[in-house]
Amino acid sequence: MNTTPQSHAAPAYSADVMVVGAGPAGLFTVFELGLLGLSAVVVDALPKPGGQLAALYPDKPIYDVPALRQCTGHELVQRLLDQIQPFATQWALGQAVTAFAPLEGESTPGLQVQLGNALTHRVKALVIAAGVGAFAHRQLECPDLAPLRGLSVLTADAGLTPALEGRRVVVAGGDEVAIDTALAAQALGAASVHLLHRREALDATDDALGRLAATPSVVRLIGQITQAQRQGDALKGLCISRAGQADVWHQADVLIECLGLLPQLGPLAEWGLAMHKKQIRVSPEHMATSVANVYAVGDMAHYPGKRKLIVSAFHEATLAAYAVAERVLGGAVPFEYTTASARLQARLGVVKA
Ligand SMILES: Cc1cc2nc3c(=O)[nH]c(=O)nc-3n(C[C@H](O)[C@H](O)[C@H](O)COP(=O)(O)OP(=O)(O)OC[C@H]3O[C@@H](n4cnc5c(N)ncnc54)[C@H](O)[C@@H]3O)c2cc1C
Repeated sequence: MNTTPQSHAAPAYSADVMVVGAGPAGLFTVFELGLLGLSAVVVDALPKPGGQLAALYPDKPIYDVPALRQCTGHELVQRLLDQIQPFATQWALGQAVTAFAPLEGESTPGLQVQLGNALTHRVKALVIAAGVGAFAHRQLECPDLAPLRGLSVLTADAGLTPALEGRRVVVAGGDEVAIDTALAAQALGAASVHLLHRREALDATDDALGRLAATPSVVRLIGQITQAQRQGDALKGLCISRAGQADVWHQADVLIECLGLLPQLGPLAEWGLAMHKKQIRVSPEHMATSVANVYAVGDMAHYPGKRKLIVSAFHEATLAAYAVAERVLGGAVPFEYTTASARLQARLGVVKA
């Protein structure tokens, strides 16, 4: 089953609803909207869908999703993506929603939404399924590296291209992703690969440590980067400080930062929505926020008794989709079962329209 969408740059979107966040709450909202005949564009700061499941625990088993005795984070994301296949979902991956404003003086309700790249999009409603915030890559605290990010300082998502061939690569990080990135850089023909980590012990499974031990050409370095030397846009060397030893300059053309992900609430906190600590307050019957045409579901939504669980997100997505549909279509939405409704089955593509 290959249902993973790809990120793409600067497209034009045309959808009824924008869903902010491609975690389980956002993906199931797309499904419920589709059943009710509404199209969606999904925005996520990460280059792939799945939210916390894909970013933080893809291989861990989950035991409390109804009717699934056990499944991994990755499997659940694939199932959710498969379930929305009947609908023509649009994707804006690798982009963050930075602002929105109500559309003034229009006959139909709506919002104008701005993505990080400054394009603005008109939608009839916004569903915020932003979890604990937009995931961003953790970065090394070395000011010299800032102008090189995206050029010769890369992240694992973007860094593994044939352009590593013949380059002197340093991978910064001490977990399994860092190990696999270093091994992949070696396989792509890098001239040298060093795995730089702060502590002696690596935070990885025995399998990953075995893969590393079997590739002696990937050399381990213990220390911290304090300075970088560059020539224009090109990295030339890294100064590495080591406990109890003199600093050393290490020649490098490419640095790949593999330091994990950090959720950031970012501009969401300034959107003028009523908040409860770092969550958006919603009415539990409609998942409506304090701003018209804006709804919130999943970990980001707060109401009395809220539990941050996947199963709660699915229920909230259903309520939000009905509320959005009633608002957008301008009246009560008939309540129908998928088992019995020819209209819903036609939307799902299981019977002819
Ligand atoms: C280690 C771990 C184990 C867990 N185990 C379980 C379990 O066994 N059972 C269970 O029910 N729950 C579990 N959870 C909790 C579960 O993962 C969350 O409840 C669930 O992921 C919430 O889904 P969500 O869609 O609301 O948010 P998320 O999964 O966090 O997805 C939100 C997405 O929104 C994106 N985003 C945020 N802001 C923006 C923005 N401004 N612009 C663009 N994109 C944005 C983020 O990048 C992210 O991808 C676990 C969590 C962790 C960390």
